[in-house]
Amino acid sequence: MGKIYLDHNATTPVAPEVSEAMLKYLTTEWGNPSSTYAFGAKLKGEIEGARRSVAELLNSLSSEVIFTSSATESINTALWSCTGNGDKDKTIVTSVVEHSATLNFCGRAKERGARVNYIDVNSNGELNLDQLREALEKKPSIVSLMWVNNETGVIFPIEDISVLCLKHGIPLHVDAVQAVGKIPVYFSKLKGITYLSLSAHKINGPKGIGVLLARKTAPFIPLINGGHQERGRRGGTENVPGIIGLGVAANITHKRVTANSQSTRKIQQILEDGILRIRSDAVINGQGAKRVSNTTSVTFPGIESESLLLMLDKEGICASSGSACLADSEGPSHVIKAMHPSTSQARETVRLSTGTHNSEEEAYEILNILERSIRKLAK
Ligand code: PLP
Repeated sequence: MGKIYLDHNATTPVAPEVSEAMLKYLTTEWGNPSSTYAFGAKLKGEIEGARRSVAELLNSLSSEVIFTSSATESINTALWSCTGNGDKDKTIVTSVVEHSATLNFCGRAKERGARVNYIDVNSNGELNLDQLREALEKKPSIVSLMWVNNETGVIFPIEDISVLCLKHGIPLHVDAVQAVGKIPVYFSKLKGITYLSLSAHKINGPKGIGVLLARKTAPFIPLINGGHQERGRRGGTENVPGIIGLGVAANITHKRVTANSQSTRKIQQILEDGILRIRSDAVINGQGAKRVSNTTSVTFPGIESESLLLMLDKEGICASSGSACLADSEGPSHVIKAMHPSTSQARETVRLSTGTHNSEEEAYEILNILERSIRKLAK
């Protein structure tokens, strides 16, 4: 039985070109880029090459790219930069459906005395822009919002939000982890975005490497204090293999953004039409909103997602009930609760997130397996 991987929002396969490029830096080229002798120092140039590739993907300047250990670190750094020098008079504006990296930073900031203003979403998962406008009038320290939701694929109107934040002079951090590679990202054009976070392992790169984009004029307080690496903005010896791998992944992603979204769009259509044929009472979460083409979040009333996922796993299908970071928690996720406050207290949602390697044949196979499994569970 072959495996069908449908959890690309959790992580993606490492592209062969990526692992091949990294190998050299784990075997022969293992020097320290900060060394003065050539064996180490020459790696500086290679890091700069990867930085240029990331800048090209995100349409930013190379000097705006800071390598971190993960998007989680990038998000924490952006929020820390605007709140870290004393939380008492600080306010963070964010949404109720953010990733735990943002929500848990905000929880800690609140314990330190900061205020957090959470913007709601409607039943389609769309952001309440009136609430955001009202929040901006109160001059918060930072606005932090995701571009694409990891559970539903719903796209927030970051272009409009960027204009609003620029008008009010408020720094905006965008969690672009689920947007990069799926929709075009133009950091240089969207002047209202002050910071932007990316994760390599969501774009066929390695784990343990992320990026924070920060404009030259952005408030900045390092979260990781140490050596002079990353122009003093992130201490610690560089993860050279990770950075090289991310550079290659960025090159591949840059070339394939449009093709990627077209191939996954067709599969999304097959999956969602098929799901609604299997169960007419199934709810495709965010169906009425603008969504990326690789994500389908579906609630099957009366079907516990854990049991369904176990059955799918036995058939070789890798899927999840939502964010991998929240897989242990019980009940509907905070995203589903925010969209449907009167939802059942059981976890009945499954997320299928596709990638370029998935085929239409696989989509039909999954529908057959889903139909069988749901019939069994409904008994
Ligand atoms: N933000 C979003 C929207 C995500 O989906 C994820 C990962 O699932 C993260 C942040 C955290 O990324 P990382 O795994 O690089 O810390």
